[in-house]
Amino acid sequence: MAVKHVEEYRDRDIARRLIAQIHAASRQPVRLMEVCGTHTMSIFRSGLRALLPETITLVSGPGCPVCVTAQREIDQFVALARCEDVILATFGDLLRVPGSGSSLQQARAAGCDVRVVYSPLDALDLAVRNPAKKVVFLGVGFETTAPTVAAALLSARARGVSNFLVFAAHKRTPPAVAALMAAPDLRVDGFLLPGHVCLVAGTQAFQPLVDRHRIPCVVGGFEPLDLLRALARLVAQIEAGEALLENAYERAVTAAGNPKAQAAMAEVFTDVDAEWRGLGVIPESGLKIAAAHRGLDAEACFDLAVPDVPEPHGCACGQVLKGLKLPTDCALYRKACTPLHPVGPCMVSSEGTCAAYYRYHRPEGA
Ligand code: SF4
Ligand code: SF4
Repeated sequence: MAVKHVEEYRDRDIARRLIAQIHAASRQPVRLMEVCGTHTMSIFRSGLRALLPETITLVSGPGCPVCVTAQREIDQFVALARCEDVILATFGDLLRVPGSGSSLQQARAAGCDVRVVYSPLDALDLAVRNPAKKVVFLGVGFETTAPTVAAALLSARARGVSNFLVFAAHKRTPPAVAALMAAPDLRVDGFLLPGHVCLVAGTQAFQPLVDRHRIPCVVGGFEPLDLLRALARLVAQIEAGEALLENAYERAVTAAGNPKAQAAMAEVFTDVDAEWRGLGVIPESGLKIAAAHRGLDAEACFDLAVPDVPEPHGCACGQVLKGLKLPTDCALYRKACTPLHPVGPCMVSSEGTCAAYYRYHRPEGA
């Protein structure tokens, strides 16, 4: 039942068949994690939760790049915005994420030059138009965004634009999924893997994890039928006692991924241990700019030492990102923490789990 054409993505009859298939197959209670924030949003938007059997609990993982950017990095971004002659260029989602003392939005209100751009190439244009300033683009995102940042940096080099810099805070998804799989308190029976990440990295990036940890994994697309197909395969695997890596997003994802994007990333970045908000330091899960491009690396060009400050008291983001708690289990949810006044990062980005719950989840009887 492969989904190939646009009109088929939301076909009600196919959806009904898949839902019936899941109901018939699902016997044991399972917790399935959607790693990607866009999956979380798509599941809420399409109302899939209510159509699944009670045996299936869906939990969200560390799949929103904004949510997992460490507080320390936000503090460094703010420090950067305060540097003289700097224009800080960023995607809008990052503006409201609280640092320990200020968000970028607050820094902008205080007079820092922080601009919202829609792509790293917009930031490069900004640099060309402002030769007297240093334009720093904040590289935040997973394998989906890192190649476009790499391409902008290579283009700056080729064009001799020396006032365009990047602060690379990119994260790699497979090491984070590996860390979750290895966690002794893991309460996840299967992973719905992010289609967009696999489009770049290929299913090959996740194969060693599945081989090592023997946990069922299925790559899923983002339309309702994509999600149902992936969930049906996860349930089938679990019920059959299997633990395989399957691709239920064949129209976009291959085993090898996108070699051009991978080459650009390999040329510009180097793997480093990285801190994930709520999850701590995960080995080789971050991308920093390689020594060969040091001149365009904002971290190498500015002194961005910031003190270590503990994360907000009472925030359960770490447990939410690990699938151990639902947002509704956090004492601050809907009280101290709302999208207008976020305490933790999961409430900030539209793809954040707590923000998605706030928008779509209605408590029973409400
Ligand atoms: S960047 Fe891609 S993989 Fe990551 S949360 Fe967004 S859609 Fe999902
Ligand atoms: S409700 Fe707010 S404080 Fe609680 S886990 Fe979510 S983002 Fe963190």
